[in-house]
Amino acid sequence: MSKPSVKNGGDATRRRPAGAARRPQRRGSSTLAIHGRERRRKAHHAVSTPIVQTSNFSFESMAEVVEFMTAKGQGRLIREQEYGRYGNPTQQEAERKLAAIEGAERAILFSSGMSAVILTLMAYMRRDGHIIFTSDCYRQTRDFAKDFLGKFGIQSTLVPPTAEAIEKAIRPATNIIFTESPTNPCLRVLDIPAVVKVARRRGVLTMIDATLATPHNLRPLELGVDIVIHSATKYLGGHNDLLAGVTLGGQKLLEEVNKVQRMIGAIAGPLSCFLLERGLKTFPLRMEQHNRAGQQVAEALEKHPKVEKVWYPGLKSHPDYAIAKEQMRGFGSVISFLVKGYNRATQKFIDSLELFLITPSLGGSESLVTQMATMSFFDYPAKYRESIGMVDNLVRVALGLEDAEDLVADLCQALDRI
Ligand code: PLP
Repeated sequence: MSKPSVKNGGDATRRRPAGAARRPQRRGSSTLAIHGRERRRKAHHAVSTPIVQTSNFSFESMAEVVEFMTAKGQGRLIREQEYGRYGNPTQQEAERKLAAIEGAERAILFSSGMSAVILTLMAYMRRDGHIIFTSDCYRQTRDFAKDFLGKFGIQSTLVPPTAEAIEKAIRPATNIIFTESPTNPCLRVLDIPAVVKVARRRGVLTMIDATLATPHNLRPLELGVDIVIHSATKYLGGHNDLLAGVTLGGQKLLEEVNKVQRMIGAIAGPLSCFLLERGLKTFPLRMEQHNRAGQQVAEALEKHPKVEKVWYPGLKSHPDYAIAKEQMRGFGSVISFLVKGYNRATQKFIDSLELFLITPSLGGSESLVTQMATMSFFDYPAKYRESIGMVDNLVRVALGLEDAEDLVADLCQALDRI
């Protein structure tokens, strides 16, 4: 398994005491996914992470309160937080693992990917500021930029996902570049080092929603991005059974995000955190399977006579193939394609699938299929929908963990019916 960098902190960089057993400098991603940066004893000697279902944590005496508050004022946490909105042991265990897997100093968990996106932006956006977003981004992120930011006196610009377009859009008021890579649904891959270079030259903060890439396939912090966000609902949780989001980065930088979260409290509950932490134990293994299946299915779809076009970064025909190959370890299991035909043929194809569930989302154990125009953009006027590429025959599949051969066979039999 991989050896992620721990340059943003972590025990792997600590000096080994004399006589201690030698261990590798950097642990692999599966080891980090099981133990975090170091093995820790859990409450009640439990092997799995206990679900601490409580809204508050009591003190034995007022002396303990004073000791706790004094330490907290100095930035030290000497026991559980007093109140669940400020933290919960199950949540902290999931955050510790997520930080280790991403190679970040700190992870802050939210109740959903969108609360991570919006509250992280809120922590850094400024009145009269300007934020650049990359187009083809997640629909709700686009709507936040388009419909909400203006209300608070914040300008935004949506640009194609290239460093040149981003540089051109920078204004004196720009203070955040918010990117997504790969994008959803066209899987455009951003040249991250080029964007970071532009941002650093102009003193602008960089954030990336790397949900579709995951820390297994892309290492944005190592490429110089300031803040990484994931919808943990997807590959990180991995089982289509929880909602969560995570923001990752440097300890000091994320202090602002922490303050917003403490105020607003969009926290993932203890059960979701337990499910996420359990899902993380198999995250690297699952990603290897997602990567293998994604490539296999994308190649099969590209060869099929009823398919007009396929978007998958591991295909030579993808516009960002070269960047993706350079930057990513694998390309995941989201594939978008145009069925040859119009709305009826597309819906017949989807209805003929036997293994794919008709639903949004991605990254779980079950394979999913969506007609983007109907499922995600139904309420947009048809003309606008088409102008942003959401045509009726655009289908997105998110492969689960079934055997790739079965998924190929299912897609082919359904295509053959149209
Ligand atoms: N970012 C991306 C790229 C997504 O695909 C999604 C959901 O599909 C989100 C953010 C939002 O995540 P959540 O549904 O956990 O709020």
